Amino acid sequence: MHPDKKWLKYAREVLQAPPDLLKCCDGGNPSNSSDPAHAARIRRWPGYIGKRYAIGRVLLVGAIHNPAKLFQAIGNDLEQEIRNWVEEPSAGSDGRYLDAVRRSYTAAYEEWAKKTVWKNFKCLLRYCKLGFDEVAFTNLAKCYLEPQRPQGKRVDYAEFVRRCNSHYPINDLCEAIKPALVLIASEAKKITEMTPIKVCTESSLPLVYRFVNAGPKHGQRNGEPIKQWGPIAAQHYRNALGR
Ligand SMILES: [Zn+2]
Repeated sequence: MHPDKKWLKYAREVLQAPPDLLKCCDGGNPSNSSDPAHAARIRRWPGYIGKRYAIGRVLLVGAIHNPAKLFQAIGNDLEQEIRNWVEEPSAGSDGRYLDAVRRSYTAAYEEWAKKTVWKNFKCLLRYCKLGFDEVAFTNLAKCYLEPQRPQGKRVDYAEFVRRCNSHYPINDLCEAIKPALVLIASEAKKITEMTPIKVCTESSLPLVYRFVNAGPKHGQRNGEPIKQWGPIAAQHYRNALGR
């Protein structure tokens, strides 16, 4: 089965369960504490699959959405396309949904890549000699942390990832679209333990690299800067594919 079909199945699972598009791990936006601009937003975001993604390519994985950046780039058009797709499944709507996701994320990519997490992703793709249209992207948590929620009423970040990943395990997506390299922008031990990825004993794939996502050490892996471990990871990836 083409990876697009696997992706569509996964994306539909993320968007349809629980059925309310406005809810996920923290139960949605409580009316008394949220930013009204976010109250009607779609809560769960499956991510992106490039037009030239194929089995054996790369899956980029963030930890959790930053809603400000997500919506600044995504805009209302994609949300409408998503609602249309969820309501009316058909081959035609599948194509329109994929086109809309690709348009939005490709436009957002250059903007996001100016800062930390995506800057590191872009750097790693350069080492791998891959374009953004050859990779897929998702977050460990499909839903986003509401920015305006008062401290104390907010679910802890790691707990949020744990809950969301228990609904949509990252390993399920890896088994569906079979990347040969998975790059995860989170090195926190707690998060690593709650988001295991099975490695095939015969092929030793996928290769999985986790690195620091934010702060002064962003990009580091086991204390090494990205310019050291990144090219080695890319070489391992090419070796694994026999390139
Ligand atoms: Zn969630």
